[in-house]
Amino acid sequence: MVDLNVFQCCRFLRHIGKVMVLVVLGFVTLTAYAVISSYAPMVAHGGARAAGAFFALLFFCALVVALLWAYFAAVLVDPGRVPAGWHPFGSDEEAAAELERLEFASYRPQERLAGSGRPRFCRKCEAWKPERAHHDSITGRCVLRMDHYCVWVLNCVGLLNYKAFLLFLCYTFVACGLAAGLLAGTFVGIFRGLEAGTEDPARPAIVFVAFVIDAAFCLSLAGFLIMHARLVAANCTTIEMYEKRRTPDWPYNRGLRRNVQDVFGNSQLRWFVPTYSPEERAVLLGNALRRRLPRSDATPVGSGYGAMAP
Ligand SMILES: [Zn+2]
Repeated sequence: MVDLNVFQCCRFLRHIGKVMVLVVLGFVTLTAYAVISSYAPMVAHGGARAAGAFFALLFFCALVVALLWAYFAAVLVDPGRVPAGWHPFGSDEEAAAELERLEFASYRPQERLAGSGRPRFCRKCEAWKPERAHHDSITGRCVLRMDHYCVWVLNCVGLLNYKAFLLFLCYTFVACGLAAGLLAGTFVGIFRGLEAGTEDPARPAIVFVAFVIDAAFCLSLAGFLIMHARLVAANCTTIEMYEKRRTPDWPYNRGLRRNVQDVFGNSQLRWFVPTYSPEERAVLLGNALRRRLPRSDATPVGSGYGAMAP
């Protein structure tokens, strides 16, 4: 019988993540080389197709910069931790009394569903955790509005880097689709023998691999993006998907506009930027540390860290 150690799996995932960062950068470099080496000569030689090739290259390079920015934001931004000493009660005495009650009571709040209304306590962190926060075994701590741990970004995806993660998916989807479209002609030319006499003998092989990878990523990301678009529209996380199916009246659904703002922020000008302004960040943290957001009232600006009345 195989003895599967969960903690060894977590360590394995952490090391895999380091490799995946290099894999992502390798894919980007490979595709960029294939596209630029195919279209830069057209721009240099001028002619009728030069302007089209120039703007295609410009758009592609802008997408690469955008996806790398979103990627490193998703990798480097802390997904949102529960502040030390945070509790959902009106006073420290009430929190201490509830913890004492928890130690001896028969109920186990940490096993109840998020949104049940009862404060939850993380046995691993030995701390209270807000609604929608979950313990991430790989990073070893509770993460606010945790979505999932992603080996591609070597980070847990949560409250403060979910937007960057989604933008990374979007930009990568468009960049892969554009690259596959731009390389399609060269890809077909390889089979017709049109690439036999190129200056760089490795280029046909690089274009072949880049086209296949870009087309495969584009198709697989389409399904993933549709899934996350539905989650954002419903104000639900990947972890909460199964819980939502059992909850007809989803308590976090505040309407499409507010649900989108809960992920992308209030300023539409910054929706395409993978970071939040200090004000947006304060609102997100304040909301994540509340017991329950009002559905119809204006979103209050978060007051930052600290205990909040239930
Ligand atoms: Zn925890």
